Amino acid sequence: MLIHQEELNTITSTLTTRYSYITAGFTTREAGDCRQIEVIKRHLKANYITPRKIVLLEQIHSSNVSKPDTTHLGDIELLEDSDGVLTKEAGACLVIRVADCVPILYFDPVRRVIGASHNGWRGTEKNLVGEMIQIMQQNGSKNENIHVLLGPAINACCYDIDLDRYAQFMETMERFNKVAFRPHGEGFHMNLVRLNYELALETGIYKRNIDYFPFCTSCDAKRFYSFRRQYKTHPHEFGEMMGYIMLT
Ligand SMILES: [Zn+2]
Repeated sequence: MLIHQEELNTITSTLTTRYSYITAGFTTREAGDCRQIEVIKRHLKANYITPRKIVLLEQIHSSNVSKPDTTHLGDIELLEDSDGVLTKEAGACLVIRVADCVPILYFDPVRRVIGASHNGWRGTEKNLVGEMIQIMQQNGSKNENIHVLLGPAINACCYDIDLDRYAQFMETMERFNKVAFRPHGEGFHMNLVRLNYELALETGIYKRNIDYFPFCTSCDAKRFYSFRRQYKTHPHEFGEMMGYIMLT
């Protein structure tokens, strides 16, 4: 279950709280605009999270997965050309920044591996979540130990896609037509979170190890920034939240 800890401006998962060596969460709008590195640092500090370095991704809507450089010396490491990251390195805080796209966090408490990925419609269409989990499996993580947290994102209520994009998805994901797509107006409503949830399940991991946040970043203006709601009409109010995970 994901829980909104209002005083911490954070949404956390009960799946992580049982492991003292894994810190993970998703910020709310109250934490500030995480496009600014100072906001990220401020939030972590306020939550008593003290990383050796913060790992950021370029987020180019790909399905490219990288590893941080364990010999990197600075307090910020940017992984270029990447939308996913996996590591066993303690003290490296993996950060994904989003406003509507799905931030996904991963961990295997037994092999002590963590990950994070940025999943917009392009990354979803490329099955980045499946790619991330497969890499964990190939590196020895057992299905019963892989945990996945799907953070706050836009829901079907506010996510319209046109017929062309729908057709594009049907080429590779027709099996999810009924659960993740609904006819609406000239096109379709698409449920990005549900689609990523189904893609994660398809890898063989367990339902009980997947947590997801059921509210909508576009509808819930009080708690979240939203690209769709704000970017064009209220750009001065726009910002991004972050999902973060770290091994200690
Ligand atoms: Zn909505």
